[in-house]
Amino acid sequence: MANENSNDICDLTIIGAGPSGLFGSFYAGLRELCTKIFDVLPEVGGQLAVLYPEKFIYDVPGHPKILAKDLVKLLQEQAMQWKPTLCLGNRVTDLRRRADGILELDAGGMTHLSKTVLITAGVGAFTANKLTLENIGRFEGRGVYYFVQDKMVFRGKRLLIVGGGDSAVDWALNLKDYAKSITLIHRRDQFRAAPASITELSNSPVNVRTFHELKRISGESQIERAVICDNRTKEETALDVDAVLLNLGFKADLGPIKKWGLELQGTRYIKVNARMETNLPGVYAAGDIAAQPAVEPVNLIATGFAQATLAVNVAVTHINPQAKVFPGHSSERRLCSIKDLPGF
Ligand SMILES: Cc1cc2nc3c(=O)[nH]c(=O)nc-3n(C[C@H](O)[C@H](O)[C@H](O)COP(=O)(O)OP(=O)(O)OC[C@H]3O[C@@H](n4cnc5c(N)ncnc54)[C@H](O)[C@@H]3O)c2cc1C
Repeated sequence: MANENSNDICDLTIIGAGPSGLFGSFYAGLRELCTKIFDVLPEVGGQLAVLYPEKFIYDVPGHPKILAKDLVKLLQEQAMQWKPTLCLGNRVTDLRRRADGILELDAGGMTHLSKTVLITAGVGAFTANKLTLENIGRFEGRGVYYFVQDKMVFRGKRLLIVGGGDSAVDWALNLKDYAKSITLIHRRDQFRAAPASITELSNSPVNVRTFHELKRISGESQIERAVICDNRTKEETALDVDAVLLNLGFKADLGPIKKWGLELQGTRYIKVNARMETNLPGVYAAGDIAAQPAVEPVNLIATGFAQATLAVNVAVTHINPQAKVFPGHSSERRLCSIKDLPGF
């Protein structure tokens, strides 16, 4: 349910609660902006929460090593100290400008008003690639998973993992001490994963079956059995399983964002200038979704933090042209509130 006060005009609305959006929201709080954040997912954290919550990240400043889910928790805590309005489970479907310059956003069946907008929509709203097995929909949430949000779900289970990329291999290694047993099947004999992980896999108790595909699943209220097939000999094997994790990659699409009149770069980036401004006045983009002409995008968490910081501080000057982009130092707590400036 989106914020019921949809008629209030926010200073800044952020689309996407991944690391860039969360850190942008924190900076908006520091600058005393009234802020609203939307995410289509039911939780904050973007790719970190959905795709790799249990993986360690080694390249976040100040954290030699941190689990993705722990970083999300800290980012959320940092952002929420300013009490922005968090609207989860809400996809922003349209963005328009009124004649008076106020921006209108459609989400959750309501229209929300904002002076500025920061788009931190990452790779867009993403959906997991699925298999076209006859009854697979019936077992989604009943033993069939596409993401790992909590390792404990697999504790003591007989787990079948399907896939040959980084995620499949990493989850097989990550879950081996939780699951009762793990079988990993891949339709080829080459894995697209880090060589060190492949070596670790071959020395692990994970039962790896290459040239195998998932053919059928069955069970009563929960999944109980999976039939896998050797794609060279067509020989079928039935496995007793409690869970099947399908790591077949995901599709990402900017979806409605492409229709908002934003200048795009290629098919997946919103074009921004060095101030993170898009071609629409008062609309900024940062993180994985933003790209500057002639600059190869570096889609990393640290890059998104810096871009979101810049975008929010530039947005402050759009709201009040007398404000400075530079916010001052948080350590000195001499931050300049735009509300203290004339003309606000
Ligand atoms: C497996 C993997 C491992 C990685 N490891 C690292 C690493 O070690 N170090 C590193 O720096 N980077 C790593 N990355 C990259 C890093 O995760 C991304 O750079 C980062 O998540 C980008 O953050 P973001 O906030 O810009 O976008 P995202 O994290 O993609 O968040 C965007 C959010 O916007 C939401 N959204 C999209 N469209 C809408 C809409 N219309 N309405 C509402 N919400 C919307 C999405 O649901 C999503 O939650 C990794 C990525 C992957 C896939």
